[in-house]
Amino acid sequence: FFIAVEGGDGAGKSTQVEALAEWIRGKGHDVVVTREPGATSIGQRLRSILLDVSSAGISHRAEALLYAADRAEHVDSVVRPALERGAVVITDRYIDSSVAYQGAGRDLSPVEIARISRWATHGLVPHLTVLLDISPEAARERFTEAPDRLESEPAAFHERVRSGFLTLAAADPGRYLVVDASQEPEEVATVVRHRMDQVLPL
Ligand code: C5P
Repeated sequence: FFIAVEGGDGAGKSTQVEALAEWIRGKGHDVVVTREPGATSIGQRLRSILLDVSSAGISHRAEALLYAADRAEHVDSVVRPALERGAVVITDRYIDSSVAYQGAGRDLSPVEIARISRWATHGLVPHLTVLLDISPEAARERFTEAPDRLESEPAAFHERVRSGFLTLAAADPGRYLVVDASQEPEEVATVVRHRMDQVLPL
């Protein structure tokens, strides 16, 4: 069973991913927690290129391809092998992050970005995507760990990213859980567990 957790910076993804993993483990499942970019050794190198301040001027297409390369390696060497042995895989970010950041956020076509990711992953789609939705203003108050990441792009960029995520969720409601991530983490976790109880195979 494959779960993606998506959302803008400061939405609380890592907290929710950890909480969900613990809860599913408690039910006796083998759970693999992973993330993008940077879950593999190649991915770590791509992550440091992508997130280094010196890469700020990278061409948008090159950036999109590096995220796709990270994802191809991630799916091939981490996600698919884990799914094949029957584990529940929870990834912190997946295709939707590319569609939202490199597509809606930048000037690239979300449809083309989705197509590149589909190719990179051999079409591997999560069974459930949890979208932690939060306004950029609320996220800024919360995101003290790396505020420079939010500040490095204008507010309008983060607004476009947020709508990019929401558009994806609206197009396929059965496969998404959209949660108001401005709530307390425990409340968010409760909503996520409720949905997991309905969809997770026993
Ligand atoms: O989720 P995490 O904090 O590891 O993401 C690192 C950064 O990479 C985020 O600040 C996000 O802005 C950026 N990112 C991106 N495009 C993606 C995935 C992440 O711009 N597809």
